[in-house]
Amino acid sequence: MSTSISSLESILKLEQVKNYADLAVIGGLDCYLRRLSTEGRDNQPQLDQLNKLYSSQRSYATLSKEERQEWVGKMLKFVVQVPPAEQSRRQIGVRRRTASIPASTTGHSLDSPITTLKGISPTLGAKFARLGVRTVRDMLYFFPRRHLDYSHKRRIAELKIGVEQTTVATVWEAYQVTLGGRRSTEAIVGDETGNIRVVWFNQPYLAKSLPANAQVAISGKVSLFKGRKVFESPEWEILELEPPIHTGCLVPLYPLTSGLTPRLVRKLVKETVDRWAPQVPDFLPPEVRSRGRLLDLPRAIQQAHYPEDKSQSEAARRRLAFDELFLIQLGMLAKRRDWQQGQRSLPMRVEGQVVPNFLGSLPFTLTESQQRVLGEILSDLAKSQPMCRLLQGEVGSGKTVIATAALLITIANGYQAVLMAPTEILAEQHFGSISGLLGKTGQVEHICHYSPPLPFTMAKLSGGVPASEKLKLKLGIERGDIDLVIGTHALIQKGVEFKNLGLAIIDEQHRFGVMQRSALRDKGPSPHVLVMTATPIPRTLALTIYGDLDISVIDQLPPGRKEVKTSWLDPQEREKAYVFVRHKIAEGRQAFIICPLIEESENVEAKAATLEYRRLSQQVFPDLRLGLLHGRLPAREKEEVMRRFRDGELDILVSTPVVEVGIDVPNATVMLVEGADRFGLAQLHQFRGRVGRGEFQSYCLLLAENPSAEGRERLKILEQIQDGFALADEDLRLRGPGEFFGTRQSGLPDLHMARLSDVGLLELAREEAIRLFQHDCQLKRPDHVCLALEMSRRWGGGGEFS
Ligand code: ADP
Ligand code: MG
Repeated sequence: MSTSISSLESILKLEQVKNYADLAVIGGLDCYLRRLSTEGRDNQPQLDQLNKLYSSQRSYATLSKEERQEWVGKMLKFVVQVPPAEQSRRQIGVRRRTASIPASTTGHSLDSPITTLKGISPTLGAKFARLGVRTVRDMLYFFPRRHLDYSHKRRIAELKIGVEQTTVATVWEAYQVTLGGRRSTEAIVGDETGNIRVVWFNQPYLAKSLPANAQVAISGKVSLFKGRKVFESPEWEILELEPPIHTGCLVPLYPLTSGLTPRLVRKLVKETVDRWAPQVPDFLPPEVRSRGRLLDLPRAIQQAHYPEDKSQSEAARRRLAFDELFLIQLGMLAKRRDWQQGQRSLPMRVEGQVVPNFLGSLPFTLTESQQRVLGEILSDLAKSQPMCRLLQGEVGSGKTVIATAALLITIANGYQAVLMAPTEILAEQHFGSISGLLGKTGQVEHICHYSPPLPFTMAKLSGGVPASEKLKLKLGIERGDIDLVIGTHALIQKGVEFKNLGLAIIDEQHRFGVMQRSALRDKGPSPHVLVMTATPIPRTLALTIYGDLDISVIDQLPPGRKEVKTSWLDPQEREKAYVFVRHKIAEGRQAFIICPLIEESENVEAKAATLEYRRLSQQVFPDLRLGLLHGRLPAREKEEVMRRFRDGELDILVSTPVVEVGIDVPNATVMLVEGADRFGLAQLHQFRGRVGRGEFQSYCLLLAENPSAEGRERLKILEQIQDGFALADEDLRLRGPGEFFGTRQSGLPDLHMARLSDVGLLELAREEAIRLFQHDCQLKRPDHVCLALEMSRRWGGGGEFS
């Protein structure tokens, strides 16, 4: 038990996180300390002292919270003073380097502020704080953006096209230029073998940082432009007087802030890593590490900063990325456990004639995809644990039909069911299409009664329903007279009580947070939950952000769907686009016009859209009926504009991109997107999905003023690819996960090392998380103490794992 002292430290810290509830270790702290004092003979002097400290106290279990707090503080102070050399000498042989700086002289730990490190003044500390580095641990986890690879150093004449390489050269001149409409920097650098042009798009300010005659290392790929070699937006670094100090082949490049030079950051990080990385307890259980062939944590941290070679650098990244994914998966499983734990939903009978009868009444047969997904859902409903399932499928892939079948089964089993949509108009739309699928045609009131063989009552609870009626409906829901309710999310928040809710279906259209989703579980006793989304998400990403859900995918459109013809037009072709729109409207169709994305603020965006609306309605289409939709309109007006458009009272809907246009208007056949190059593929695809929903040929016209190389690539891809999943993969490839999906807003821990292209690693992480959870889903085993602590650290305290 030579690790006893350091694991005691972790346990005490966990106890702090758990708010002194004596939950950090199974059997309680008293029991643990007693065991420690008899087993831990390696650190005898320390343990004797510790025993003294412990036995001078009443048992932990009997202390009040305040007393516990004080006691744990005292113990921790003692524990961190045990020299690390003493802690680890017998454990991993002798570590001379750490032994030479015993922590006892400093009394610091991984959680000490960096200002306790040698050479870091409060001023310097404040600069690091701006980069999010506050503690010693933060510094260890402050990884370089990338490494300059001096192992592939070439002289300018030897540079090859298309490969990563580094050259060291002299700056001859650097200046601002306009390239493709964007302010950029261009430089000419040279060595004894020749000169080469370097450009950095969109970074005009770089010019100032590259003084003439400076020595600079340039690292990146070389391409050919008009027959001449050029570095495009490479990594670079001014080499100061000395040669690169950290002489290995791979020199780390850290994110910087003003007042922190690369050299200083490197030096400080290096010292910290050398001194402290060996002290980091590895929270991964050894068997997980060995099955995954993962580096141990101290080595991974060290190699992530100063790798011996490329393969070690990748191995380090792999281990650290695994950690991120593994901890996310564990967190997701914990949420799911909370959701499902102790919750028993009554298993439903799903055989019977209800589903076959319903399917038989439809004018089409299900696609193979739909059949498979329906099977998955029905088998969930038959279980005694509540379903947590995500149903992904493109717009128009037929999710509503599947949802309807699930709703019917629920009702047939004697439970209530609810379908929630993000907006009023979508709720109305669902009500309309479900009553249509169930055989009611024409205008349907807000309540309908169905007759045998499956008699039931369905109601719509939305803003359009008069208040007096609403009250009646609520009562009906409470008494169980109403079996199926369709409305917005507000439905479930505004004190509507169900008598026996069996299934909640959430149509979220766009992704929404893990946190919001788990808020739902408090609503019913334990309804089955199905979340539907029309946003195609690549599998890896889905497993990450929807890791708490099982996933079903409808990856096939019903036969005979017409492709939406997509064209990317030059700015000069705008007039042509308007003529085209006019032409389609003359044929009786309708059109959307989406205004460009302006990131400044919703206000600015609303103003721009208002101007565009005025311009279009006064100068371009004075004889047509136009409507305007933007985020600053009151909810009521938004709904009203959408309703008018849906009912054909408007010819053109001018809208900002922020606004939900998730509305089904089969008669709208033209989607014109202004500033199309500024949107991601996923979003463009969503816009495109607004048309092509009816029998008519539909069109998506993309206008772009001055697209960048990347913007062009996106538009080209959109012209060629119709499939949403293929597009989502491309989007991820082009933009990276950070932009594709901001983790912060989702409530997930950040991903620094993991890439969403790490499919294998993600699957491994998920597998291991599930395996671990099967044995110890509360993370209560003593050998999982460090892991539990790391979980609270990454997911931010709270009672997740208590
Ligand atoms: P989603 O909700 O996924 O956007 P819907 O369920 O609204 O899609 O289906 C879009 C349209 O396709 C509806 O008119 C629906 O009746 C029809 N549909 C659904 N499944 C099929 C199918 N298997 N074959 C033909 N048409 C289908
Ligand atoms: Mg739909």
